[in-house]
Amino acid sequence: MLFPTRCPECAREVRAEFADSAVHDLTCPHCGAEFCVLVRKHKFEVLFDLGTRALMDGYAREAVATFAAALERFFEFYVRAAVLERMADGETEFAGALAALDGTWKHVSAQSERQLGMFALAYLLREGRPPDFLTPQALGSDFRNRVVHRGALPRREEVETYAARVFALIDRLLTELGEGAAHAALAQEAEFAAHLARLPGHVTAVFEEHPGMFRARRFGGEAPGKAAPDKASPTSRAAPPRNDAQTFARALAERGPGLEHLLRDPSLQDRFWKGGGRRS
Ligand SMILES: [Zn+2]
Repeated sequence: MLFPTRCPECAREVRAEFADSAVHDLTCPHCGAEFCVLVRKHKFEVLFDLGTRALMDGYAREAVATFAAALERFFEFYVRAAVLERMADGETEFAGALAALDGTWKHVSAQSERQLGMFALAYLLREGRPPDFLTPQALGSDFRNRVVHRGALPRREEVETYAARVFALIDRLLTELGEGAAHAALAQEAEFAAHLARLPGHVTAVFEEHPGMFRARRFGGEAPGKAAPDKASPTSRAAPPRNDAQTFARALAERGPGLEHLLRDPSLQDRFWKGGGRRS
């Protein structure tokens, strides 16, 4: 997926392709300046927004596979956040905790069933109760398998129901994680910092926020620095939606179809930081 960004030297638009790492080393085709765009967004968020866009554009089948991938990556995000949160209270420093986590995750990284097992345990340890929402019905596993593995052509309403279910589950777990999610965000910042430390001095680093649907619900969709509406009372608390479909519909109304527009909004390219090298 391409996203537009802006050259920090000549301020003209440059189109970049979303990288797995969220780190993009670019050369401006207009003026030749080298710069590095770091997108503060997690894989599950990127995937969920892609799924939403596919759904809007009428690619129902592709949307299902993408929503399913978003959910899997969210389970990984949850495990990382929960483990790092727990280790933050121990003796190990952050880099050591991160290395231990990566060394453990590699045993499950190739198989989603193993990852689900790890998520289940992480949930039990953090919340003190079983993840009873992990039933095939609740996860829409049958529907997903019919579409992804057996070539079934889903109707749009079915995809919307599935998307709503995935959205509600992630949204609920993010709410439970609360501040704990910051630990996984910190891991991304650590990767960014390691990349920045290797950048030559003439390369400018640019941080971007692309709100997407989950951040939009939490932070009102505003980039940091702009007048952010009451962070303390998320929209979800104003008048609780009665079911998954309503939760999803509300989030879509708030943010969904506007994704392309949002990605082009230069005000979201919040922080220009000249000079490369170190932060702060
Ligand atoms: Zn340029």
